Amino acid sequence: MTRLCPQCENPFEPTTETQLCCGSKCYQANYQAANRERVVKNRAAYYAANRATFAERSAAYYAANRERLLNQQATYRAENAEKIAKRKATRRAAQRARIADQQAAHREANPEEVANQQAARRAMKRDRNAKRQAAYRAANPEKVAKYQATYRAANPERFAKYQAAYRAANPKKVIEYHAAYRKANPARVAKHQADYRAAHPEIIAQRHAAYHAANRDKIAKRKAARYAAKWDGLKDLTTS
Ligand SMILES: [Zn+2]
Repeated sequence: MTRLCPQCENPFEPTTETQLCCGSKCYQANYQAANRERVVKNRAAYYAANRATFAERSAAYYAANRERLLNQQATYRAENAEKIAKRKATRRAAQRARIADQQAAHREANPEEVANQQAARRAMKRDRNAKRQAAYRAANPEKVAKYQATYRAANPERFAKYQAAYRAANPKKVIEYHAAYRKANPARVAKHQADYRAAHPEIIAQRHAAYHAANRDKIAKRKAARYAAKWDGLKDLTTS
């Protein structure tokens, strides 16, 4: 009489009435299949109870076979570089996706907080950049001047636009800067003015005429005051 082993599904001749599987291997497999949960639990409990022992044993094994294991790992890595890189990339992509999901959820749940954080980060970055640029300018004035001159020469329109925008946005600063420049460089300013007057006599004449036209009353009063003062002086001369 033959039976079919439920594990390997091969026919076998049982030696006893109750023999279920063909051999001890299939018995074991069959038992494990039937008691998988319990076996897993037992195994976990066993590992948990002997964790220290296992750790010690594996540490001792690793220490004793360090060189060989390192070589093995290096060989494995060299032989499977592509596979490892792919696996890493997959893991990283999954992690990135998970983080992105988390961030999106957080943004959606806390829009105000996120906006504030972003603004703070941007402000910090601006501040840091400004400081860095100022430090660079202070450390490399010649380089910066050269760079600016090159930029101005290459982009005259852009530069003019930028200057106009700056002047419009910072009128006080511009006035202060001009005053400081005049104070620091009187000879240069005088020369520049003289050059300008010599080069543009008609503009100067026009400007004078416009000023006179716009301030006729003021000028007349000033003249009258000057005459009156002179007249008083003459009177004083005649009376003394
Ligand atoms: Zn079997």
